[in-house]
Amino acid sequence: MSQFTVLNPATEQAVTTLTQASAEDTDAAIGRAAAAQERWRAVAPGERAGLLRRFAAAVDSHVEELAGLEVAGSGHPVGQARWEAGHVRDVLLYYSATPERLIGKQIPVPGGLNVTFHEPVGMVGLIVPWNFPMPIFAWGMAPALAAGNTVVAKPAELTPLTAVRIGELALEGVLQVLPGKGSVVGQRLVDHPAVRKIVFTGSTEVGSQVMAGCARHIKRVTLELGGKSANIVFADADLERAAATAPYAVFDNAGQDCCARSRILVQRSVLDRFMELFEPAVKGVAVGDPASPGTEMGPLISAAHRQHVAAYVPDGAPVAFRGSAPDGPGFWYPPTVLAPVGADDPAYTEEVFGPVVTVTPFDDEAEAVTIANDTPYGLSGSIFTSDVGRAIRVARAVETGNLSVNSHSSVRYWTPFGGFKQSGLGRELGPDAPDAFTETKNVFIATEP
Ligand code: NAD
Repeated sequence: MSQFTVLNPATEQAVTTLTQASAEDTDAAIGRAAAAQERWRAVAPGERAGLLRRFAAAVDSHVEELAGLEVAGSGHPVGQARWEAGHVRDVLLYYSATPERLIGKQIPVPGGLNVTFHEPVGMVGLIVPWNFPMPIFAWGMAPALAAGNTVVAKPAELTPLTAVRIGELALEGVLQVLPGKGSVVGQRLVDHPAVRKIVFTGSTEVGSQVMAGCARHIKRVTLELGGKSANIVFADADLERAAATAPYAVFDNAGQDCCARSRILVQRSVLDRFMELFEPAVKGVAVGDPASPGTEMGPLISAAHRQHVAAYVPDGAPVAFRGSAPDGPGFWYPPTVLAPVGADDPAYTEEVFGPVVTVTPFDDEAEAVTIANDTPYGLSGSIFTSDVGRAIRVARAVETGNLSVNSHSSVRYWTPFGGFKQSGLGRELGPDAPDAFTETKNVFIATEP
């Protein structure tokens, strides 16, 4: 039986030790989910909605406890962690409205009528990364449950605590949470024929293996993968606003964010002014003890990940300026701005997944779009301009799934979320998300005598 010790990334102290599930434990959970599936799909839609609202209320009464677990086990700033726990409640409440709205169609046909039904796909395997343990868990499980499926979820090895606790608050059997290794529990969910859909969020590399595994069983799969998104600042933008918000588009969650806008593209004529405004904004990011209410950025998740991030800023790297980070124990890394950077610099081409951003000038709109699209990824992006026509033109031209104009915000649970190109396959969230957890059944009823 393998054990895993969760470390507090801000102190390097052990938080707790968990037993990791084995392949046999995963099979047993799949067996329980299959039994629960028969009961859950038979629950009347209104009653299922009520049970989801009860689940949301249970999460709501544990927001402080869940936030505390995320501060200790993931190093998230406490304000962010409280928001994340509240977000789980909100996502459950939003999807609690959908069981009664899984409405089929009536299609005109000669000799009778044709109706469609949305049937649950069955059992869903949910595989979650370590960067946003609560939100990403909620985005998969809430619409899956609302559509009448059961869920077996595997949190990331490094950050299992909040998902395990939320699983304890759920209806038994309907949602099960199995902490364990990706290569054991995750792989078993992919390989087990009774699991009918995989919702995977993580790296593009593992996502590609998961997709190949699902192909063997013709299993449905949603992939939410990596990103290398651009924040495009035009000369006609409100530069103060663009510079003040840019740190939060990339340094939130210490840059461990698939939507991090880690390439800032600035029109050349305002580059110097932008950098003048950007420097105090970066230095003003409050980096420190995640448990203290004013903290905006905490540590990186692990020593290994800090080493990975630091490799993008070798000695002699073009550091324009940096924010601060505490000394002493903890996996700290300061917000770091690189400029000017070469187009072949790995910090410019690869997903760093840490608080490192590059700044690159461009001359005109066409060049901004070309640079923004010069990446295998396409997840997020921001555009700052005062020209509405340009905002829409550029938003349509950038090959990415989620964009914001004159704002750094990215994900909203009531709008669809997902990536272009190697950033993913399929969409989560938004009003149609439960449909992706159903199969459409088409029934012809003869009416001729
Ligand atoms: P990862 O790919 O290493 O792991 C993700 C999950 O997959 C973990 O739970 C892991 O245990 C599991 N896993 C590993 N091997 C597996 C296998 N063979 N079969 C099944 N499951 C397996 O990613 P990570 O390091 O945890 O997360 C960081 C990555 O996630 C970044 O690339 C980031 O951009 C991406 N991400 C994407 C989104 C999005 O919505 N697009 C959101 C958050 C993170």
